Amino acid sequence: MQIIPMLINGKWVQGDGQELINVVNPSTGEVLAQIKNASKAQVDEAVRAARHAYESEEWRKVKAYERGQLLIQLAQYIRMHAEEWSLLECRDVGKPLTQARADVEAAARYFEFYGGAADKIMGDTIPIEDGILNAVVLEPVGVTVHIVPWNYPLQITARSVAAAIATGNAVIVKSAEDTPLTTHAMTKWFADKLPRGIFQHITGLGRDVGPFLTTHADINHITFTGSVPTGIEVMKAAAQNIVPVTLELGGKSPNIVFKDAPMEQALEGVMRAIIQNAGQTCSAGARLLIEKDVKEMFVAKLVKKFQTLKIGPGEADVDMGPLLNHQQYLKISTLLKQAKENGYVISGGETITIKGYEKGYYIQPTILDGVDANATLAQEEIFGPVLTILTFTSIDEAIALANGTDYGLVAGVWSKDLDTAHYVASRVKAGQVFVNNYGAAGGIQMPFGGYKKSGIGREKGFVALRNYTQMKNIAIRYSTPNHDSE
Ligand code: NAD
Repeated sequence: MQIIPMLINGKWVQGDGQELINVVNPSTGEVLAQIKNASKAQVDEAVRAARHAYESEEWRKVKAYERGQLLIQLAQYIRMHAEEWSLLECRDVGKPLTQARADVEAAARYFEFYGGAADKIMGDTIPIEDGILNAVVLEPVGVTVHIVPWNYPLQITARSVAAAIATGNAVIVKSAEDTPLTTHAMTKWFADKLPRGIFQHITGLGRDVGPFLTTHADINHITFTGSVPTGIEVMKAAAQNIVPVTLELGGKSPNIVFKDAPMEQALEGVMRAIIQNAGQTCSAGARLLIEKDVKEMFVAKLVKKFQTLKIGPGEADVDMGPLLNHQQYLKISTLLKQAKENGYVISGGETITIKGYEKGYYIQPTILDGVDANATLAQEEIFGPVLTILTFTSIDEAIALANGTDYGLVAGVWSKDLDTAHYVASRVKAGQVFVNNYGAAGGIQMPFGGYKKSGIGREKGFVALRNYTQMKNIAIRYSTPNHDSE
């Protein structure tokens, strides 16, 4: 069985940890590979190597456009090996091949986008007085740490790593214990293309290995994508050394459907928003807020759509794959059992056994109705294909419901009326609002991040480059040269 090696200080090494941690294909239960925990000493070595590489003349001399070209070459490589990488991601996460292919293309686009931006990261000049040139320059922050979740491992690694390398930092990635495979593929590509220590990959269980990184005194920035409780831990750890954090956390995002919505698009949008990646998406549309007048019609059609969905292994390229692991499967099947006992389940709600894939973690896409807006099922991230319906009778009630959780990542508004759409979009507390669509095809260019407990800061787009740069003001006084004129 392959043990995924880490890349530390230019060397391929296994974690010092004794335990072998299985990387499992959620569609089949098959063990694909294993990882080991990095030790504190190994994390220390990685940070020292990153610091050394970052401060080196060799890295300093790499021109901005050369960093950009390198990232663009990686994008090209990813496209050339798209099918191979898609299969890796499909097996590692259990996602349907079409979704895995979209993730691979998104990763290529992140490298392309930030590769193109590398030599366009401009500072500013500020007028002070005659004899002073005041320049504001953007410098890299130094050593950046990237802690990645298991749901979109390739995309999420690509989006922050591309921006950090484009801006000239030394990067350390800690992949999620369940899904290290595509990060390993990326590491293999970077290994001989960048100076030693500029890109490193650490493996291991988050609760063991994560704190070695987040409490380290010699790192300069942490990008963490994951759950709220872990985000709080990361922020506390980073506070010890006043290290800035970008936190991309969870959500309980609403799709708000008004009676004048474009109904067919809304039905498709609401369904896709919760079944994508089996609901294991930070921006999943986990709540349907529906106007009372059209509820019966809309929900009846939605139930029909849910019941035609094909569930199965990722490689069969079905509509929805399995949950990620046994822990997720147990958590969600227990929640569904309770929901059933309370009479909330109007569609789905059962686990599924698929012939030939008996060890896969399959559940039915599920719709809940009758849940109180303040109940856990309507408030907390379930991270599975479970849609909770809430009903409203006025626009202000819809907005209050939309804003009535601790999260604020994404919201969908479905209405053909421009006034309604604008009014709601301006009052919903969410980092992204989509009108008559949900997700805008991924939107590499669009700032993405959360209000409230959904996070701090923004990723994607040009704005994310700021996470990886530090601003320096340089004021230069010059004198009037003494030229003798004859
Ligand atoms: P998680 O918080 O359990 O783990 C995320 C990462 O943190 C993993 O690499 C894990 O190994 C590591 N980790 C765990 N404990 C740690 C610690 N104490 N210190 C440092 N690192 C630690 O999250 P998950 O279960 O992998 O992912 C699901 C969560 O991620 C959901 O809440 C989801 O909404 C969120 N998410 C957010 C976004 C976004 O962009 N907003 C995207 C994807 C997922």
